[in-house]
Amino acid sequence: MAQDDQDQTLHPETLALRTGQLRTGEGAHSEPIFATSSYVFDSAAQAAARFSGEEPGNIYSRFTNPTVQAFEQRLAALEGAERCVATASGMAAILSTVMALLQAGDEVVCSRSVFGTTNVLFEKYLQRFGVHTRFVPLTAMEQWQQAITSKTRLLFLETPSNPLCEVVDITAMAELAHSHGALLVVDNCFCTPALQQPLALGADIALHSATKFLDGQGRCIGGAVCGDHALMEEVFGFLRSAGPSLSPFNAWVFLKGLETLSLRMQAHSRNALELARWLDQHPAVEQVFHAGLPEHPQHDLARRQQRDFGGVLSFRVKGGRTQAWQVIDSTRILSITGNLGDAKTTITHPATTTHGRLSDAAKLESGISENLIRLCVGLEHSDDIKADLQRGLAKVN
Ligand SMILES: *Cc1c(COP(=O)(O)O)cnc(C)c1O
Repeated sequence: MAQDDQDQTLHPETLALRTGQLRTGEGAHSEPIFATSSYVFDSAAQAAARFSGEEPGNIYSRFTNPTVQAFEQRLAALEGAERCVATASGMAAILSTVMALLQAGDEVVCSRSVFGTTNVLFEKYLQRFGVHTRFVPLTAMEQWQQAITSKTRLLFLETPSNPLCEVVDITAMAELAHSHGALLVVDNCFCTPALQQPLALGADIALHSATKFLDGQGRCIGGAVCGDHALMEEVFGFLRSAGPSLSPFNAWVFLKGLETLSLRMQAHSRNALELARWLDQHPAVEQVFHAGLPEHPQHDLARRQQRDFGGVLSFRVKGGRTQAWQVIDSTRILSITGNLGDAKTTITHPATTTHGRLSDAAKLESGISENLIRLCVGLEHSDDIKADLQRGLAKVN
């Protein structure tokens, strides 16, 4: 099915399998990997027409590759976007967005609870080029309002947040951005389009680290930016000139990942909710952070805005770092890693790994305590995940 004759009434599960199919003369059922850096032309005249843009078609794989384009079409269909531009990593997706859309003198307002490297990109590197970023707590609407000036061009956020699973109203944030002539960019990594479509809720751009749930099995690094034709033409222009391009092999892995995305996100969500409820009742656990629990402050918003609650949760064990590390080190099947979005459950101590670079004050402010553990609940049987955690939790008094 080509992009043009895509039936807009198809359901997401179908789009994930049927959009961007690459049928070649060989009849390959799985999309082929176009492992080629460049393309040949029938004639000098055709080459000239391709380069001038008069004739559409492939030129050079930094910016045109059929496997990469198939992934872009499929993800665009799932995000409900006019167009998607694939990138070499999630960070390259964020970099390409800001480089394409901002210039010296512009300002960004960004949630304080974003991926750590996003923080560094804005604070250290963008600042050098005269783009100033203000960081505000994700759910403090008045602070977002106060941080916006006449120079603000972009609001940037992740919802749910990492690792405390706070949720913000995307529609309200989009209205706030638009009332000041700014754009809203949502990093949709945690929910994926299977659970949340930021563009339908009013955001201008939804971007991804495809490395996480889109792949879903921890094999490849990649990213993507989704939005309307005009914005994506700018992002594509930067990608074409600067070259943070996705490899065809990685694009192929993500294409396969998208085919099972909806099923996997349902299973991640089901397992995570069960784990959250179990931990919530556990005598060794002080507090659980997961939007699926009725006591979560944005539980109702998450129910409205998301199709399900996703695979990530965190909890405070009774005690401090010693007890948290004891729980982590007592596991036998869970993977101790900073990564998430894998079919295998991952367990992380944010204070000393993913958020280790934050100052003590910043950790305190964002709730990254020494007794906090993050889980990205995978697809193992939930009883086995519980038993693996119980080994360490049983030692906590
Ligand atoms: C991992 C991650 C990124 C960065 O993506 P890479 O593919 O590692 O470059 C950005 N945002 C979120 C929410 C992430 O989890």
